[in-house]
Amino acid sequence: MTIKKKEIEKRMQLFETVCRDEGIKLTHQRIEIFREVAQTEDHPNAEQVFQRIRDRIPTVSIDTVYRTLWLLKDLGLIVTLGSSRERTRFDANLSNHHHYVCDHCGYTRDFVSDDLDNITLPDLVGSFGEIDATHVEVRGLCRQCVAKGR
Ligand SMILES: [Zn+2]
Ligand SMILES: [Zn+2]
Repeated sequence: MTIKKKEIEKRMQLFETVCRDEGIKLTHQRIEIFREVAQTEDHPNAEQVFQRIRDRIPTVSIDTVYRTLWLLKDLGLIVTLGSSRERTRFDANLSNHHHYVCDHCGYTRDFVSDDLDNITLPDLVGSFGEIDATHVEVRGLCRQCVAKGR
């Protein structure tokens, strides 16, 4: 499954606009790092982003990838997911959505659901603080892992 070209272009345009507005220099490395997250549904972690852009940008370091991903997060261009136990994964899908995550290999996919967007939360949750969004994470063993017998 791939993300439509039009959606990737939209994400790249938002990236350029936000960087310009915030006075962030559009370096080749930053563009390639953001593009890598913007064009995949994988929700890669920093290590995976690093491995994928290495061929294209031999001078890039894992440190730069980490710093850039967290900068992009601070700019609101990507969101993070994963509990602290796992390595943080990055997601350029900013629209309301939910995740399926494989417990074994980390395979992650987006899905949308109007029902889940409008889920009724227990009153207790409101006492913890303000609620901006509800994100459902479905966990299990993905098809590939099931086929491999784990
Ligand atoms: Zn799996
Ligand atoms: Zn996602």
